[in-house]
Amino acid sequence: MSSVVVAGSFNVDHVWRCDALPAPGATIAGRYSTGPGGKGFNQAVAAQRAGAQTSFVCALGADAGGDLARQLAAADGIALVAEASDEPTGTAGIYVDGRGRNSIVIGAGANASLSTDFVTANAALISGAKVLLAQLESPVETIEATLAQAREAGVLTMLNAAPANAPSTISLLKLADVLTPNETEFAALLGRHVGERIEADDVATLDGASLHALCRKLSGNTVVVTLGAVGVFVSHDEDKLRSDSQPYYRVAAESVQVVDTTGAGDAFNGALAASLAQAPEASFIKHVRFANQYAARSTESEGAALSMPKMTPADA
Ligand code: ATP
Repeated sequence: MSSVVVAGSFNVDHVWRCDALPAPGATIAGRYSTGPGGKGFNQAVAAQRAGAQTSFVCALGADAGGDLARQLAAADGIALVAEASDEPTGTAGIYVDGRGRNSIVIGAGANASLSTDFVTANAALISGAKVLLAQLESPVETIEATLAQAREAGVLTMLNAAPANAPSTISLLKLADVLTPNETEFAALLGRHVGERIEADDVATLDGASLHALCRKLSGNTVVVTLGAVGVFVSHDEDKLRSDSQPYYRVAAESVQVVDTTGAGDAFNGALAASLAQAPEASFIKHVRFANQYAARSTESEGAALSMPKMTPADA
């Protein structure tokens, strides 16, 4: 039995590192590299390397990208459960400039065909998990059905509401026991679903009570807002609060030598899911502290999935 099931995307990332991002009409030189990506896969690798037996439910094309996903999942001991798609495996074209800023084009490909029927056919896998973790790079109706299925089976549900421009509904957000937007996604969800206009850059500067009140408008459960180099803000529903917890608190980011923050959010989500699955009785702040440490470690080397650290809660 898997203790974490991740449902989501796999992409083959094509990355060009350039001095400046290409302007319309420009042809420029860049240093090219390729490798696995997709929020779903990155988070599955993080969960597995953080010590949880992990299954990854995704959709793949019958091509080299699909083969790569199978090969890398097997190398990490992740159980891959892939729906066969007629579309090519997902891809991302990523340009990164000398200041670390990026422009990204996603070709969803097979990821857009992950179906509710396929998830339903794997209901036993999901109901046998401790934690179900999903993102929004797959069809929203499939993600909603997956979370609903897990919820019904008593599995703890986590939704990383990323990327910021993905469609979502308030009913989808309510299906998450733990909702984990970053500050940009948090601002987008507030604007879209509760009519609160706030700049992403201002989220981290709000006082705790105001941030907690905004989180409560989005969810009746736990919200964890990741704040990059600032750390994390956690907001719990006061009616469901354990006696050893506070309604809201911050956990400061660890001080590390940052090389590349790509995939830090995925590291955080995978590690949080793995920690929750391994010790469901522990206080939530312990899980957040571990995920915060794990995500910081992931920034110490270049890359996303392949640079996820091997570090379990017991090592932290
Ligand atoms: P990405 O889209 O690159 O995956 P994200 O925007 O979803 O990232 P962030 O909020 O930037 O996610 O980062 C997630 C977590 O990673 C933070 O909450 C923190 O725990 C850790 N982290 C990110 N940047 C740093 C940093 N510079 N130093 C230490 N920890 C960091």
